[in-house]
Amino acid sequence: MDFEPPAAETFQFPSPRLLALKEFRPAGRGPWADIAEHDWNDWRWQLKHRVTSLEQLERLLPTLTQEERAGAILARSKLAVAITPHFFNLIDPANPNCPIRRQVIPRVEEGNTAPWETADPVGEDSHSPVPGLVHRYPDRVLFLVTDRCAAYCRYCTRSRLVSNAAGYDFHPEFDRQIAYLEQHPEIRDVLLSGGDPLLLSDDKLSHLLGRLRAIKHLEFLRLGTRIPIFLPQRITPELCAMLKQYHPLFMSVHVNHPRELTTEVREALGRLADAGIPLGNQSVLLKHVNDEVEVMQALVQKLLLSRVRPYYLYQCDLIQGSAHLRSSVKRGIEIIQGLRGHTSGYAVPQYVIDAPGGGGKVPVNPEYVLSRNHDRVVVRNYEGKVFEYPEAGDGTPIVLPREEGLPNFGFAPTPASRQSRYFPKFA
Ligand code: SF4
Repeated sequence: MDFEPPAAETFQFPSPRLLALKEFRPAGRGPWADIAEHDWNDWRWQLKHRVTSLEQLERLLPTLTQEERAGAILARSKLAVAITPHFFNLIDPANPNCPIRRQVIPRVEEGNTAPWETADPVGEDSHSPVPGLVHRYPDRVLFLVTDRCAAYCRYCTRSRLVSNAAGYDFHPEFDRQIAYLEQHPEIRDVLLSGGDPLLLSDDKLSHLLGRLRAIKHLEFLRLGTRIPIFLPQRITPELCAMLKQYHPLFMSVHVNHPRELTTEVREALGRLADAGIPLGNQSVLLKHVNDEVEVMQALVQKLLLSRVRPYYLYQCDLIQGSAHLRSSVKRGIEIIQGLRGHTSGYAVPQYVIDAPGGGGKVPVNPEYVLSRNHDRVVVRNYEGKVFEYPEAGDGTPIVLPREEGLPNFGFAPTPASRQSRYFPKFA
């Protein structure tokens, strides 16, 4: 059969904006230009010099708005402010709606709450058999390691707990958490999260991973972390060498906007990938941050360039005071529709709603199956073209009667096949 390539104009070439969003750039030094290279590259120095107060914000970001100023005051009793110098340098000071700024600088709207917003929107506390352990799904658990992060995200699902600004006073009890795992052989998968597990020292984290690896029925360990993005200096060769002792060990990172993928972050992710750690990304759909097809396309393609598979896109949880950051489910579906078929399948994350109250993750997809009836499934492709797939209503293949000289491979027409319009009708 002759192959006719589609006309060139049917292909979509990347726009200049997409290409610009996909560029890897260093975070730069910004206000820390005088700091010695050695200090800047030291993750402990970065942690020690985080931006945490209103006074620092006013000094380092002269365009701080009244709404942000009020938000910073509110944050003291809600969810602390902390921004690493590396991440702070990604903020565009000239743009009050900068997508990086919206994620880490509080706004006064955090004080607005609606009746459907709660402090624990996905019901973690009610699924917690021992402090610091959430057992919601049959074979896997969430193991909280700490309540501290390198920086705090204003939409955090666990903002009741992380930073301890709201007085939750979380203290992990590793012995009790591990004892629970030992007593539950149905658990095969443990996700270490928090807070951020990579804030533990190499020795402490290694000790914990070693204790988990000693439990024979645990097949699979995962780390949920935003440190490679907030603090790429933490991904040292020593950390990578330690982590690779505990395979199979996966890592879920958290990137929301393509600008977060700096050259330093790409190198840090490369070190983790070289240590044999499969990397997946979890993004949260956020208003004016990443709720645009082109931004998301740049993000997912840049993630693949950084050796990270886009894994989940979360609808933002109904956390108190997050309405100004939440985008709509309609927008989320449009974004997936704008990705599916238009870019590599590997680049398309699963869009999910974490069901309010503790129902777990529910996949949400654009409608590709248009109808099903007794003899076919009608589907549409990414371009909206409609196709039919012959299949009986009971799921059996449609089987035609054997023609002379043709093998029938042992299938016989089923009653459902006989009713099908694909089944020849004999006079
Ligand atoms: S890094 Fe994760 S746990 Fe920490 S504040 Fe951000 S979303 Fe919450």
